[in-house]
Amino acid sequence: MSDSLEALRQEVLRFRDARAWSRFHTPKNLAMAIGVESAELSELFLWKDDAEVAEALARPDFREKVSHEMADVLVLLLTMSESVGLDLAAALRAKLEVNGAKYPVEKSYGRATKYDAL
Ligand SMILES: [Mg+2]
Repeated sequence: MSDSLEALRQEVLRFRDARAWSRFHTPKNLAMAIGVESAELSELFLWKDDAEVAEALARPDFREKVSHEMADVLVLLLTMSESVGLDLAAALRAKLEVNGAKYPVEKSYGRATKYDAL
């Protein structure tokens, strides 16, 4: 990943503004759209076992579908960060701190246990 989050955000906002879409991009609509795009990403993997996923990920056509859906989610997250006036990079760092407190390395290393059961 070579571009900064802010540079990507500006690119996304230029794309949006060139189409006069900002009036559709309310926080509610964007939150719902993130859910929809996330479901589209999930659908690509639905009902595949791990071997089938590995096989699919070796195919360029499947990788392209995955990359498109991941990009859709990122575009909407970047757009929503502008719509709600939130610094996504700062939010990510703050959440990593929260997660670090919930999942201290000494308790969670190599474990997939939820924080309240550690
Ligand atoms: Mg999509």
